[in-house]
Amino acid sequence: MTNDELTLDPADWTEFGALAHRMVDDMLAHLASLAQQPAWREMPPAVRGSFSGEVPREGKGDAAAYAEFVERVMPYTSGNQHPRFWGWVQGNGTPLAMMAEMLAAGINPHLAGFNQAPALVEHEVVRWLASLLGMPHDASGVLVSGGTMANTIGLAVARHAGAVAAGWNVKEDGLQGEGSPRLVFYGSSETHNWARKAAELLGLGNRSFHRVPVDAEHRMDLAALAARIAEDRAAGLRPFCVIGTAGTVNTGATDDLTAIADLCARERLWFHVDGAFGALAYLSEELRPMVDGMERADSLAFDLHKWGSMPFECACVLVRDPAVHRAAFASSASYIDPMARGVIAGGLPFAERSLELTRNFKALKVWMSLTANGADHHARLIEQNVRQAHALAALVDAHPALERLAPAPLNVVCFRYAPPGYPDAGLDALNEEILLRLQERGLAVPSGTRLAGRYAIRVANVNHRSRMSDFTALVDDVVALGEEIVGEQG
Ligand SMILES: *Cc1c(COP(=O)(O)O)cnc(C)c1O
Repeated sequence: MTNDELTLDPADWTEFGALAHRMVDDMLAHLASLAQQPAWREMPPAVRGSFSGEVPREGKGDAAAYAEFVERVMPYTSGNQHPRFWGWVQGNGTPLAMMAEMLAAGINPHLAGFNQAPALVEHEVVRWLASLLGMPHDASGVLVSGGTMANTIGLAVARHAGAVAAGWNVKEDGLQGEGSPRLVFYGSSETHNWARKAAELLGLGNRSFHRVPVDAEHRMDLAALAARIAEDRAAGLRPFCVIGTAGTVNTGATDDLTAIADLCARERLWFHVDGAFGALAYLSEELRPMVDGMERADSLAFDLHKWGSMPFECACVLVRDPAVHRAAFASSASYIDPMARGVIAGGLPFAERSLELTRNFKALKVWMSLTANGADHHARLIEQNVRQAHALAALVDAHPALERLAPAPLNVVCFRYAPPGYPDAGLDALNEEILLRLQERGLAVPSGTRLAGRYAIRVANVNHRSRMSDFTALVDDVVALGEEIVGEQG
């Protein structure tokens, strides 16, 4: 190389190596000290304001770039690695998987396919996941960014299958063919919002997503589902899919998946399961009965970055019939034609299972984690989270000033502070304020939701770092903050 030829490799590998080792040491020190850190830090206005700089035209060097990260980025996240973070549904990540991310970027393979070792790792991971979740070992699957994408892919395959069954080429004509029937699909009113986005994106339209009411346990009312399907058929609509949820985002409820599978078989409908976090309960023999029937899905979507503890992003969609999965997405282009030998031998199978062509090596962190920890260890962690959630529910039930707002079958607990005699109309504002103070003081990070119009503090526990003492502290903090706010109100 002559001096005037550029590269992005370091000029001095030894110097870069020292910086790289410092990055690793700093990150491990961060992870080792999470319990001593606040659950959340609000970003000072000066730091917040510092992100409106001009694009750097002249580089400041690797060390300076890293210093910016350490000062302005690293301390100011939403806190989801912390042992007292239970907001929304966000996993923690793990030290090993963090290193796997580095290794994946280190070899930087292109995972459209290319039948080399990285592709074989993803094929193996898909097979492992299928077998862990009760799907056939030859189910087709692909790792994607998150549950939203995994579910959307599942619904897209369902749409394809539904259109083919109607004798209609959705890939060629889209949803605009002459006299094309109106496809409709079903899920409970507790279905996660991905279904709406997917309906909009896939050209089905939000009106084609028929939301079925739920019972007192927040599970789909199956009589209402059957009635709606019959009504829709009578009106000339074309039902094609039912979404069952394993672990709803609000309360962790699971639909009667066996009954939905039976109904789908009877009605010749695609059975899709959104098991974003709940599907992983299947790993545990003790919890498996709660998600029974899931293994009968035509397509199953789940996250690994929630209850699988993988760093973002990582989710998977499995499709029972590999031919249908491929048919929904395969298309050809001369510049990616497979050849019998050479680098592209074996083609680009992953590009034929979703929208993406260029994909990163998400499979490595899953493969290394399952290899290092064993699936049984992950199952024990999931059981631990459920035990903790049930214990929290019991603490809430036993406390005279706390009130549970929904059943807590799995790992989600919704409750509020409701001291005897406090006016009902003020409880929503009181609990919102408790939640905000919990977060702002860095005590803990639950999130909020509304259940039957009532504001709830919501704890979704997919946290491998939480200890039982973290939940007793949460109960104490909620009550103390509640008393403090009520005191301020005189
Ligand atoms: C989190 C969640 C999703 C969306 O998954 P992302 O990974 O956030 O895209 C879908 N369904 C349920 C039940 C969820 O909990």
